[in-house]
Amino acid sequence: MLNLPDPLPPGVLHVFAAVLGLIFGSFVTALTYRLPRGISIATGRSACPACGTALTARDLVPVFSWLMHRGACRTCGTKVSWRYPAIEVLMALLFVIAALFVRDHSRLIVILAATPIMVALSVVDIEHRRLPNVLTGCLAVAAIASRYVTDADFVSAAVAAAAVFAFAVILDHVGRRLIRQGLGMGDAKLMSVVALALPTGPLLLALGCAGCLGVVTGLLWRGGHPVGATQVPFGPAILLALWIAMVAL
Ligand SMILES: [Zn+2]
Repeated sequence: MLNLPDPLPPGVLHVFAAVLGLIFGSFVTALTYRLPRGISIATGRSACPACGTALTARDLVPVFSWLMHRGACRTCGTKVSWRYPAIEVLMALLFVIAALFVRDHSRLIVILAATPIMVALSVVDIEHRRLPNVLTGCLAVAAIASRYVTDADFVSAAVAAAAVFAFAVILDHVGRRLIRQGLGMGDAKLMSVVALALPTGPLLLALGCAGCLGVVTGLLWRGGHPVGATQVPFGPAILLALWIAMVAL
């Protein structure tokens, strides 16, 4: 098990986690904008979508740039969505909460690596009703790493992942028949990633929790959208349940 110098001066780890969260948050904002639009994340500097001006270092400081320029492009004055600072602040909060609750440094590193992927999946699901396979695949790798630093029971993990996937496919069929709202294959794959990450007890709790959060999401989503207009994104409910279980384990 990896261990940082212990004890660290009070608060150092948490301040470091907050800064790291903001930096990864900035990456998540770019990733979640580019990935669904088929724009490469490896090439090209970020630019204002309205005037095309390339963003410089002073435009890219998480949260502060947005506040400094009062949520508008420095060149053309077009409003910059609040999604950018919101995602960055959320990431910083999640990183600090994880650093507060997770004592084992190996587990903390795995959770901090998984968190940007989980937030990115949630954002893309909310904005585009999609769970891109590339992100779910990255989360599966993080889930296996998480299992390695908890009980390393890979046989149980594989069996549980297959069983949960089958269960999710059945749920999808039943949902489509009864309420014309299926789970979708993206959600089924995501649920089997949850099964890869968590031992049986926490897995059952997390799936129950995801179900309850999913019902709440469904009611809120339906309330805010015209009937039948959009599919309900269940990814965030599944991911929030997994994140809480990983931190509380
Ligand atoms: Zn502009």
